Amino acid sequence: TTVLAIETSCDETAVAIVKNREVCSSVVSSQISVHQQYGGVVPEVASRQHVETINFCVEQALQDAQVEWEAIDGIAATAAPGLVGALLVGLTTAKTLAIVHQKPFVGIHHLEGHIYASYLSDPALQPPFLCLLVSGGHTSLIYVKDCGVYETLGETRDDAAGEAFDKVARLLNLGYPGGPVMDRLAQEGNPQAYPLPEGNVGLPGGGYHPYDSSFSGLKTAVLRLVQKLQQQGGLLPVKDIAASFQESVSRSLTKRAIACAIDYGLETIVIGGGVAANSGLRSHLAAAAATRNLRVLFPDLKFCTDNAAMIGCAAAEHLNRGHTSRLTLGVQSRLAITDVMQLY
Ligand code: ATP
Ligand code: MG
Ligand code: FE
Repeated sequence: TTVLAIETSCDETAVAIVKNREVCSSVVSSQISVHQQYGGVVPEVASRQHVETINFCVEQALQDAQVEWEAIDGIAATAAPGLVGALLVGLTTAKTLAIVHQKPFVGIHHLEGHIYASYLSDPALQPPFLCLLVSGGHTSLIYVKDCGVYETLGETRDDAAGEAFDKVARLLNLGYPGGPVMDRLAQEGNPQAYPLPEGNVGLPGGGYHPYDSSFSGLKTAVLRLVQKLQQQGGLLPVKDIAASFQESVSRSLTKRAIACAIDYGLETIVIGGGVAANSGLRSHLAAAAATRNLRVLFPDLKFCTDNAAMIGCAAAEHLNRGHTSRLTLGVQSRLAITDVMQLY
């Protein structure tokens, strides 16, 4: 099954051609330079950029893959969750192409796409497995039972991991988006320089929630640390702060993912979302899994952050199962991963 897939849920205009789990082409046009001057994504600006770019991305994806319309079995687009105006551009483009070329249309859940990025890296991957989904808007432990069948076992109570990286980066004047810069600086810093809280969610009877996390306290702890260091004067040890922060986030996420996989008897952990590109998280998780005899699958770095190949891979699987969406399907700013089948 060959799919033309579109992703416009946030600030990346992306189009890909995917044949089951094989990527024929993947075009990602990032709007980062446009949003950087505002220090974050401006929804109105994002929608307008998508409108200007989308047709070129479709042309480029077809050209890169060297496929004709006859070879395409379906058209997919991210339908939820995300910025409404941004999602609308991709969804409307996909529906229009589906009508014009008389192909089935499939709406895809953005997080299911992030999960499917791992299928691109391992064509033999089969559920059940545990997905640690860590992105700009989500931090979840998802029990993947089958295509379209998910159970959320853990979540963040406040900030998402990627959001925490972005906020701390901003605090350190590192610009937007902060994750990749923090990662680079952390690799040159001392992760033990400053002890920071691990994002535990306390339970009424003592102890902490084994799968849920909280990153707003960690963010505040970094703020206090920075204020204290600034009062002492001198240059801010940015590399050591970045390394200590990354250490704390990586440790926290790893601990939860490993505990969850063991408790539920799942032998494979996959990671997805932008923070899955983080070097600290990758090494912590790999080391911890090895001692527990668990397998960890790391998707390609280019398929961790937003892209359309992951959307196409999920769409091909849904099409193979006969799932298609109505042309009246709308976009939704929020939709739980457990409600994916509402799209079909
Ligand atoms: P969601 O998928 O929840 O809707 P999103 O699509 O905006 O959110 P992604 O594109 O999956 O999020 O990921 C972007 C996030 O990943 C940003 O917060 C960014 O800072 C973070 N990120 C990217 N690379 C790294 C890295 N190497 N280390 C840490 N964080 C990173
Ligand atoms: Mg993005
Ligand atoms: Fe995303």
